[in-house]
Amino acid sequence: MKHDIPVLIVGGGPVGLALAAELGWRGIPCLLVEQGDGAITTPKMNEVNMRTMEFCRRWGMAVQVTNCPFPQDYPKDIVFMTNMSGYELGRLKRAAKKDAQPGTVSPEHMTICSQKWFDPMLADLARSFPNVELRYHCRLDSFTASPAGVTAQLTDTQSGASQTIHAAYLAGCDGANSPIRQALGIGLSGDEVLSRPVHLFFRTPDLCGTLGIDPGTFFLVVDKEGMWANVRFIDPVEGLWRLMALDAPADLKPETIDRQGMLRRALGRDLDVE
Ligand SMILES: Cc1cc2nc3c(=O)[nH]c(=O)nc-3n(C[C@H](O)[C@H](O)[C@H](O)COP(=O)(O)OP(=O)(O)OC[C@H]3O[C@@H](n4cnc5c(N)ncnc54)[C@H](O)[C@@H]3O)c2cc1C
Repeated sequence: MKHDIPVLIVGGGPVGLALAAELGWRGIPCLLVEQGDGAITTPKMNEVNMRTMEFCRRWGMAVQVTNCPFPQDYPKDIVFMTNMSGYELGRLKRAAKKDAQPGTVSPEHMTICSQKWFDPMLADLARSFPNVELRYHCRLDSFTASPAGVTAQLTDTQSGASQTIHAAYLAGCDGANSPIRQALGIGLSGDEVLSRPVHLFFRTPDLCGTLGIDPGTFFLVVDKEGMWANVRFIDPVEGLWRLMALDAPADLKPETIDRQGMLRRALGRDLDVE
């Protein structure tokens, strides 16, 4: 089989983008296809752990990650509260970025950089290599694999145009529900569904100030029914927060979620937020 490209990467999340950058750095041509447009409007990850920072250091982007728009002087504290207007039960102090000291085990340390900034940085890094192509609005529909390589059917989701592509390798970086993994019959050990969290993203300019509490980035809400939610400060510049209710009934539909009720329980009062 004649190959159009050595490596076809499916999925432009952090894993696919990191692989594209790594292959680019090693001079191996690759094509990454991502069905979305690359914009992160509802970020999942916000904390970049030490090991990931070590990779970023090798790729030359650690300083850029540390200097992302999350403010240098904002404390990274984790706070346990009965609700965000209630009692503070405990506080795990974590220094603001500007006060972070080098540790003994690594030149890097965990930092805060939401995926809304992190993924575009990885994409820019990958694009900086001439042997890497990132193709957004492009979906993998199906593939066949043989010892000679992989034949994949791609669709441009904007024009509807389809394309057949031959690659030596297909890298399935298509997320936790990976259709590629399922098509190959690769299972998971343990429970596939650990919980059914619900995420509510909201904007409000100065939540801690409004509620009269000391600042922090991650608030764990523990009330008489136990820990049921957490509230994460994603972007202080934009005032963007995420309330995560840890578990929800399997039959919950987006249209039946009681947003105000969940927010009231977590914040401990009614608050007009966007
Ligand atoms: C609420 C939450 C908070 C988290 N917080 C952190 C954190 O603070 N720090 C941390 O390190 N991790 C965190 N994580 C985990 C982290 O977000 C994931 O590990 C990471 O996003 C996985 O990256 P990925 O590239 O494998 O998959 P994804 O990010 O899911 O990306 C997969 C991509 O594949 C694309 N795709 C799927 N199918 C196709 C197809 N057929 N054709 C083309 N494209 C396709 C999708 O559009 C998607 O963009 C968090 C996760 C969640 C849910």
